[in-house]
Amino acid sequence: MKTISPSKIVCVGRNYAKHAAELGGEVPDEPLIFFKPPSSLIGEGDAIVMPAISQRVDFEGEIGVIIGKRGRNVPASEAWALVESLVPVNDITARDLQRIDDQWARAKGFDTFCAVGTPVPLADVAHSTLGVITRVNGEVLQEGDAADMVFDIPTILEYITSFMTLEPGDLVATGTPEGVAPLHDGDVVEIEVVGVGSVKNPVVQGG
Ligand code: MG
Repeated sequence: MKTISPSKIVCVGRNYAKHAAELGGEVPDEPLIFFKPPSSLIGEGDAIVMPAISQRVDFEGEIGVIIGKRGRNVPASEAWALVESLVPVNDITARDLQRIDDQWARAKGFDTFCAVGTPVPLADVAHSTLGVITRVNGEVLQEGDAADMVFDIPTILEYITSFMTLEPGDLVATGTPEGVAPLHDGDVVEIEVVGVGSVKNPVVQGG
């Protein structure tokens, strides 16, 4: 069951240089922002359903930020004050559809394509040293350090709030490190944000 009810889910693409490179892309000059719909949310233990229309559905382990205070035009130096909690996020992606669509609404937006764990209050987390680990069937496939982000979390929040209001409850997914790979029917995928917690989900093939 999902644990959050955001008005919007704001995501950052290509925010780790090695991940941008593995997809054949460049690191953007400014944060690359896209949305996932709240209807894509699932929680711990819920099934990720791979749509039949896609031949490649990837996991993307990410550090999620939950907003606690409405913010617009917030400078990076004050941005942590907007944050209520952190949460592990799986930004599940239909990679083949992402490659053929100019906009990513479909590739990123299927039902069950945003798995989130239980939010942990920022005050309870050593947020200066964050990392994310992805395991598929127990094997570590991603191991990322937030220090390697192209744009750090305060810079992301400054950028987003320069053009839209972040509302309490909104989720910001801060990008995935290298190591993304396809999921298969029967897999179990777990995203862990070190010091925060994890979200684990079974994968099933949909019709
Ligand atoms: Mg992502």
